[in-house]
Amino acid sequence: MSDATAKKEERRKFQAIRGTRDLLPPETTLWNRVEQTAHEVFATFGYGEIRPPIFEPTELFARAVGGETDIVSKEMYTFEDRPEEVEKPQVFQDFERYLRSVQELFEKSRIPQSKENEEAIKQLERTLKKASDAHAHQLFDVGMVATTFYWANAIKLGDELSLRPEATASVCRAYIEHNMQQLPQPVKLYYTGPMFRRERPQKGRYRQFYQIGAEVLGGTDAPAIDAEVIEMLMTFFDKVGLQGATLYINSIGHNADNCRRGYVAGLKAALEKVKEKLGPDSQRRIDTNPLRVLDSKLESEQVIIATLPRIADHLCDECKTHYAEVKRQLEVRGVLYQENWRLVRGLDYYMRTTFEITAPGLGSQNAVCGGGRYDGLVELLGGPPAKGIGFAIGEDRLILSLQESGKGRVPQRRDVYIAWMGERAYAAAIRAAKDLRKSGFSVELPPVEQKFGKALGQADKLGAKYALILGDNEVSEALWTLKTLATGEQAKLTEPDLLQFLRNQKPAT
Ligand code: AMP
Repeated sequence: MSDATAKKEERRKFQAIRGTRDLLPPETTLWNRVEQTAHEVFATFGYGEIRPPIFEPTELFARAVGGETDIVSKEMYTFEDRPEEVEKPQVFQDFERYLRSVQELFEKSRIPQSKENEEAIKQLERTLKKASDAHAHQLFDVGMVATTFYWANAIKLGDELSLRPEATASVCRAYIEHNMQQLPQPVKLYYTGPMFRRERPQKGRYRQFYQIGAEVLGGTDAPAIDAEVIEMLMTFFDKVGLQGATLYINSIGHNADNCRRGYVAGLKAALEKVKEKLGPDSQRRIDTNPLRVLDSKLESEQVIIATLPRIADHLCDECKTHYAEVKRQLEVRGVLYQENWRLVRGLDYYMRTTFEITAPGLGSQNAVCGGGRYDGLVELLGGPPAKGIGFAIGEDRLILSLQESGKGRVPQRRDVYIAWMGERAYAAAIRAAKDLRKSGFSVELPPVEQKFGKALGQADKLGAKYALILGDNEVSEALWTLKTLATGEQAKLTEPDLLQFLRNQKPAT
């Protein structure tokens, strides 16, 4: 390989990882606007921001999201944490030393106190003892080397951690960890930030994507809470300019024989009858999670699904009343909705209200938000019994939809470009820039002197509204020139008048 090709190769090496991307200006201005709107709208509903860590023990997500779900079983970015002071052994002679340090760390509870670790350490000790006896008899056994490697590697030096695939689990964990049940209930929290799932990337689906979510924990499960959460969400979408959003709602009852469990049993029986007509995924789900069959987007299954029993006919009286009241409250709040009996969640602790919002311009990935009630989750994670409801908005998809509808255009422009020439002019330019920036204007002050023609061209390219022309003439006359770039109009003004004139304009960004 020639030097040039090698250099080229080297330069080509670094690219954002598949499914991740750089968000760049001017688009980031739109992201900030969306997030700012979330801060403002959620605050008006009494929500406070929580910023949980990006990674947590894998077990937290396994428990909260469900070990059987695709998210946990195949999509998480998982790694083993470990104490710094001990390295996995590289050569055979290291093992005795390794065993001693691992035993010490285990005794001091510095490595995971699991049964598996206890067993692996014991087995490593036993194998090494055997190996040393064999060595004394000048025997060498390849199988024994392999066994030693096996047990040494089986010892987990650190907890298994995962990048968060969602944030509800973390928020519930934080609620428990910080004893938030002692605060006035319910506790209303929201978050924004990146989530990570190893999904097949496509339009609107990324491996690092962003969510804006909120959770209401503790207190009552009054239908007004569900309705207000949804009202807040729709207020946010409205404020941010999302057009054509459709809100779908459903109630999935609660996990009891006279409610969802009874329905699921009936659904399963009905699915068994049409099993042969279903695709392999749905066939499998009849046993693992029959509710998920209702999620199916497979064209050939749609007519069959339409004939299946519906949960609304199987809700217990309390769940039925709760659902009716949620709908009534939505109407009182002027929130338009459509019912969708196929909107389900596959996990046991999800209950009653579920909702989803779709938006145009997104192709098949058209859900911009999913949410629902999950009264059993905090308890499942080891906390006190606590009601819970929340949602997560897919920010990437929201932005895409805004851009598709033309609402995403955020021109990034400078208010003022200062075209200066000469040392004295430069001092005045610095002064003017400082003054205007203080008033919130976006000012471009070129770092080196340029001819006015070039400077004005540059100002045009940057989309500046005004060019402030400062040459030595202007400085000695104490009359500065202000050019409105769109019209070409020029005016000569004194420094205070000019700054005052500009201050009376609104900053562009
Ligand atoms: P979920 O946490 O799966 O209920 O998803 C809530 C919302 O997050 C969805 O409605 C999507 O808008 C968004 N979302 C989920 N997964 C992805 C992904 N891989 N890429 C982009 N957005 C996603």
